[in-house]
Amino acid sequence: MTDISDVSLEAALSTELAPAKINLALHVTGRRDDGYHLIDSLVVFTRFGDRVGSVAADEDSFEVTGRYAANVPRDASNLVLRAREALRARYGAEKAPPVAITLEKNLPVASGMGGGSSDAAATLRSLARLWQFDIDDAELARIGATLGADVPMCLAARPLVARGTGDELTMLPGFPSLGLVLVNPGVGVATADVFKALAKADNEGLPPLPQQIEFHSMRNWLETTRNDLCPAAESITPSIRYALAALNKADAGFARMSGSGATCFGLYETGNVAKRAAAEIRKRQPKWFVAATRSIPSEDA
Ligand code: ATP
Repeated sequence: MTDISDVSLEAALSTELAPAKINLALHVTGRRDDGYHLIDSLVVFTRFGDRVGSVAADEDSFEVTGRYAANVPRDASNLVLRAREALRARYGAEKAPPVAITLEKNLPVASGMGGGSSDAAATLRSLARLWQFDIDDAELARIGATLGADVPMCLAARPLVARGTGDELTMLPGFPSLGLVLVNPGVGVATADVFKALAKADNEGLPPLPQQIEFHSMRNWLETTRNDLCPAAESITPSIRYALAALNKADAGFARMSGSGATCFGLYETGNVAKRAAAEIRKRQPKWFVAATRSIPSEDA
């Protein structure tokens, strides 16, 4: 029998997935005078990620659970709390009353999967719904951009190409769901350190994408692209090579580092093959982060 109080509680709880952001290809195409790097990157988001839940409360609170909870800052620097405060600053405290927020931290921290940015995006979506703000995607993206360059793309959370400093987004139609295994050898890498170690910033942009995107055409296209941050990240964290080797040994159709590392992804033809590969890697490396997942397809795919 359903308890009526449970139903009302559930209705008031606003939960959102904060997907992992995976750079399938990442070319560094320049460096601006202000030090910002320019990129050209094919980005997908996965069904695996963190979860942000918010519910009306008498006073603000913030709880972090999940495998990687211990590595996340609990103070005002956490991007979840910064997102809450950005919405409050924009709409006023009266329209944004106290809220209890829970972050389920399933993504390793500083791992090249944009966990913090995705948490910020999920918080903005969750609170905008809880507080019943009449806010369109463009305005939410403007608020997101004040929290970090990658927050707008995490709000979109669909296959896209990101250019400029990561702020110029082109959504990709007809992009299907891809089978992926994500592997992190258990080391955090600070993005700023990787950019500092980058030897060359003026590389060519991405080649044109295939007309029809599916496993085979994507694998062939990926072979013609790079992650320009990989050599710099490997010089800081040599174990990235072990993660790539583990994916290749587990028959990935293609394997590469995402973002500034150290997480690497393997591309698999089906979700079941990906699950088997993940189980094999996990058995050999029980301490690593290993997740079999699928990417979120385009809206029309
Ligand atoms: P990117 O690829 O965008 O650099 P990343 O996955 O490498 O992201 P994050 O996990 O986003 O890195 O963490 C980057 C930094 O942000 C960490 O040093 C962490 O202390 C801080 N941070 C703030 N809020 C969060 C959050 N909610 N989750 C994770 N890290 C957070």
